[in-house]
Amino acid sequence: MKYAIIIPDGCADEPQDALEGRTPLQAARTPAMDALARCGMVGRANHVPASLPAGSDVANLSLLGYNPLEHFTGRAPLEAAAQGIALGANDWAIRCNLVTVENQTMRDFTAGHISTEEAAQLLAAAQEHLATEQLEFMPGVSYRNLLIYRDGKQPPPFTHDTRATPPHDLTDQSVLDDYPRGPGSVLLNQLMHDSVPLFADHPVNAARRQSGKLPATNVWLWGQGKAPALTPFVDLYGRRGAMITAVDLLRGLAALLGWQRIEVPGATGYLDTDYAAKGRYAVDALADTDIICVHVEATDEASHEGNCAEKIKALEAIDQHIVAPLHAALQAQGEYRVLVTPDHPTPLRTKTHSHGSVPFVIAGSGITPDAAQTYDEPAAGNSPLSFDEGWRLMQFFLDHQIA
Ligand SMILES: [Zn+2]
Repeated sequence: MKYAIIIPDGCADEPQDALEGRTPLQAARTPAMDALARCGMVGRANHVPASLPAGSDVANLSLLGYNPLEHFTGRAPLEAAAQGIALGANDWAIRCNLVTVENQTMRDFTAGHISTEEAAQLLAAAQEHLATEQLEFMPGVSYRNLLIYRDGKQPPPFTHDTRATPPHDLTDQSVLDDYPRGPGSVLLNQLMHDSVPLFADHPVNAARRQSGKLPATNVWLWGQGKAPALTPFVDLYGRRGAMITAVDLLRGLAALLGWQRIEVPGATGYLDTDYAAKGRYAVDALADTDIICVHVEATDEASHEGNCAEKIKALEAIDQHIVAPLHAALQAQGEYRVLVTPDHPTPLRTKTHSHGSVPFVIAGSGITPDAAQTYDEPAAGNSPLSFDEGWRLMQFFLDHQIA
């Protein structure tokens, strides 16, 4: 049996006035997803326990079959795993966003989608002027960078009570009440503060202002945690997996699960991603793995920008270029199952991730069709199939009615 999982990140949403009361999933032309709904089962699952932040980290951990209440330690350690950064038992990884804060308002949590090259120069300046023996600034992709705290002679100042707000939760809002707090927060606040004068006159920012782009005003530190200990997926579920994604968070999860990672040229983690290339690589990967998982970030990015039209465009591209060819290839090769599901809702209204259930569809061998005719939030809402503990969906997907 071959399995495919397609994750349109954050695609679940609310009815939109601009769409005459429909959600983006309802309004988008998605014949391949709707075909899955007609021959499969539509339901809903909640991947974010109320006590945890509604992030892609928590939600994708759950979606991939691990109870986040047991295993989630923070976003940054997952991204460190993606970059092959080994963390010792007392080391902490901390997400180091480059952001644009103006008049204490979070203008842009991506610093205008700053390029990886520009980000690397700013991170190098931070490393030169702000790092200590314990601290290392590690450049990543675009605005998504890391700060690593290595256990030195002194114990790490952070605990699980250290609080830091994800900057994407603060878009267009005041940041004054959302600086880090709790154990170790003095250090985090100091670094954020010290990066302001360091970046203000940096040539990267001078050039960005000159060409009308947003400057990276400072680092924003959050998502801190130690490395999680995850049982390899193959030991838990008996299948090998492979991941296609453009974001480090998912690469890191794949690495920690023991999944193969497949890099696709042209996959950007943004609205301009090469959907067709992802679809082709996914089809090609089927021969060498039991599960191929394709994660697409574009739907989530469109929501963060409050852009309904782009969200619909991204959904239609995922349907046409990934779901359709993958389903066709699976049918051609024999026994198979497909799961399409986002990780969490990202409502256009709030421009940020939210708690709550997401719709999923499962189709393929041994799946008895239910009444659903379309894949969307109302169809899922009408279904009796519901997983309050979303991490249990994986076992159902893999083994439901398989003797
Ligand atoms: Zn997400």
